[in-house]
Amino acid sequence: MAAIRWRKDRAAAIRLRMNAPNRLRLDGAALVENWRTLARMSGCAACGAAVKADGYGLGATAVVKRLADAGCRDFFVATWAEAAALARPDLSLSVLHGVRAADMPIATRIAARPVLSTPAQIQRWREAGMGACDVMVDTGMNRLGVAPDDIASGLLDGLQVETLMSHLASAEEAGASINERQRAALRSIADRSGARRVSLANSAGVALGSDYAFDLTRPGIALYGGVPCPRLSGLIRPVATIQAEVLQRREVPAGGRVGYNLTWTAKRDSSVAVVNLGYADGYRRAFSNCGTAFVGDVAVPVIGRVSMDLTAVDVTSLDVSEGDWISFDSDLAHASAASDVSQYELLTGLGRRFDRIWS
Ligand SMILES: *Cc1c(COP(=O)(O)O)cnc(C)c1O
Repeated sequence: MAAIRWRKDRAAAIRLRMNAPNRLRLDGAALVENWRTLARMSGCAACGAAVKADGYGLGATAVVKRLADAGCRDFFVATWAEAAALARPDLSLSVLHGVRAADMPIATRIAARPVLSTPAQIQRWREAGMGACDVMVDTGMNRLGVAPDDIASGLLDGLQVETLMSHLASAEEAGASINERQRAALRSIADRSGARRVSLANSAGVALGSDYAFDLTRPGIALYGGVPCPRLSGLIRPVATIQAEVLQRREVPAGGRVGYNLTWTAKRDSSVAVVNLGYADGYRRAFSNCGTAFVGDVAVPVIGRVSMDLTAVDVTSLDVSEGDWISFDSDLAHASAASDVSQYELLTGLGRRFDRIWS
């Protein structure tokens, strides 16, 4: 009896989640159009997609399906758990964090390649007699990657390297001299590596021009509506829009104050909508008193502190009532400037409570 009741309760919980009081509206056409724009800008190079961190918070399975249908063939994740959820025999999937001893059982089973970035990882892969891999070479960022000198001394000899990669430290600063130094360092080691393909550019790297594209580009943030550098502005469409339901509308007389620590004071008699959204959903506390919401096309300010599960919006003289839905700023560059939170963090912090609805 208890088991049956538990199953019924669980089914009800799943139905309730689909009826969540907040949701992410996800624009599949915009995602695909952003990828096509970046593919065009990549020239002769293939254009892949970074889908780590659950597709930057949007949902990696849904992202991969749409981009694969559009013709994208190369995908990048950080971990083997992410890879296991996405691997498909018709796609190239690279695991950016390489392969630890603990990853070997899964790494030998699924259709994904590690991006080897240390001599120990390379030895592990070689000793296991494994086939194709990718390799990360560090060209100046000092994050992940083997040293160019080690490649020159034969570190990769005998290894079947599919893609030799490096990663740009300052791609969003078009004038930074490190960009050209990294590009030249990768170029000079590419032939010695024996790699079939070479890859350097992330989203902002694609905007640096065809010299940076090599054989394969790896955009992430711009696919999802982020604009990491001025050259991409006007070319990238927003993909994700937060919407939240109004839980209560209240009238606050002039002088009344709102939210934790009463940080907002009504300058006039005001109407306030309190919505089902908070920092536990990834709507950051940094939007307190500076976020933007929309009632239809009318921009309205977020007022007071963003709480864990609730946010207040000034809807004075607008027709908004309990049960209505309010949208939040989907212009990531704008939201990032207002909150001083990076576009990457705004997306990857999007929470698990949203009903993710693709159109
Ligand atoms: C995350 C990541 C990317 C994608 O970077 P964006 O700035 O989001 O375009 C590309 N390459 C590597 C190695 C990464 O870690």
